[in-house]
Amino acid sequence: MLIVGIDDTDSERGFCTTYLAAVLIERLRASGCQTGAPRLVRLNPCARYKTRGNAAIAIPVEAEDPEEIGKLALDTLLELSDLSGRNTNPGLVIADRVTAEMRRFYRRAVTEILEIEEAKRILSSEGIWHRGFKNQRGLIGALAAVGSEFDDHTYELIAYRRRGLWGTPRALDEDSIWNADRATYPATWDTVDYSNRRIVFSPHSPDPVLFGIRGDDPGAIRRAFSMIRSEAPERCVMYVTNQGTDAHIIDMSDRDILLHDDRSYRLRGSVAGEPRVIEGGHVFFPIDLGERKIECAAFEPTKCFRKIVRSLIPGDLIEVYGSMKSGTLNLEKIDIISLERQRRSRPPLCACGRRMESAGSGKGYRCRRCRTRSMEAEIVEHPRDIEEGLYEVPPSARRHLAKPLVRTRNPRAHPSR
Ligand code: ATP
Repeated sequence: MLIVGIDDTDSERGFCTTYLAAVLIERLRASGCQTGAPRLVRLNPCARYKTRGNAAIAIPVEAEDPEEIGKLALDTLLELSDLSGRNTNPGLVIADRVTAEMRRFYRRAVTEILEIEEAKRILSSEGIWHRGFKNQRGLIGALAAVGSEFDDHTYELIAYRRRGLWGTPRALDEDSIWNADRATYPATWDTVDYSNRRIVFSPHSPDPVLFGIRGDDPGAIRRAFSMIRSEAPERCVMYVTNQGTDAHIIDMSDRDILLHDDRSYRLRGSVAGEPRVIEGGHVFFPIDLGERKIECAAFEPTKCFRKIVRSLIPGDLIEVYGSMKSGTLNLEKIDIISLERQRRSRPPLCACGRRMESAGSGKGYRCRRCRTRSMEAEIVEHPRDIEEGLYEVPPSARRHLAKPLVRTRNPRAHPSR
């Protein structure tokens, strides 16, 4: 058994590594090779040179000789890559075994930022067949894809467009998509975004993808597919994937805190200041992690999620999930573990029945009618306008790797659909 890993073949102008893989699978089968379930492997979403979702592909093939499979894979790669793309640096890796070091490389590629030289060092020390083009950055993703093993997995069925239609608007019947979602959610998810009234399973870029149906159950995904009316796809592939599994999240809830930019974390702490809204609608608040404080951010595209964040008050105990960028954690999810009691002070009631007024800064309160004075404010408790539990950004703002709350089956979860 060989595993073929491919990455970094497309650009914003066109093509898609998953399409190349779909064509290669067909050609491998036509040449008499059996292929196993192809894997759509998402890597660190903070990687700088990604085109879109930092995807790489691994295809298991029943064959012995990497040279023979390599020739077919290379021809397909050269035919279906945008080698002229400024940031397109294809990598192709074919391994006949997966070693502990390769598995470790995958784990690091999904959580950290790696160097091309690290990939090359492993490829040469393990004697793995590979080809890299231009600056060869794609070898990072291709090697990580080959070494990938999923603790948790989901599925995505991707339908591809006929070549003559690439770059033209996609013909999709919207009602059929909403119906397919209604019939198969929660076994499928992130097809539509109810809160923003948007279809989110289809890109708007000139690439070959018509749409992708994600979910936990291949049967439900196929049922959704059969309900969707659209232009006729050229081909479809069902991938096993680490999407929707939080594979990128480093759990720091019980560990020492050393946080790096471009990594994603789960952190526990208490809200250390009132949330602030800045121009553009972005919301920020500080969290106290015990040894240090950091800022958390919910940016404008996270839409209704910002309302939850704005409702936090100092003292709330929370767990936050998100990526560190310039020392700020960009939120994907939040678990509100316990809510602080919200107390507000107001002028006290006077013995005469009238509410007192402020007598000026630091001077307490006085009654206008009977001139009585008091230094003591009245403390009233205000009910909170959120409940404890887990909240997440809506599907339109969701990262491929982020685990949708609907998958957690947690009674405390408030899934955004
Ligand atoms: P698409 O989703 O359309 O296939 P993409 O978003 O996957 O595109 P690529 O064109 O594959 O983007 O580019 C990502 C590049 O970043 C690749 O060269 C890949 O090898 C590299 N890369 C992936 N993960 C890491 C990482 N953890 N550290 C450094 N580089 C990485």
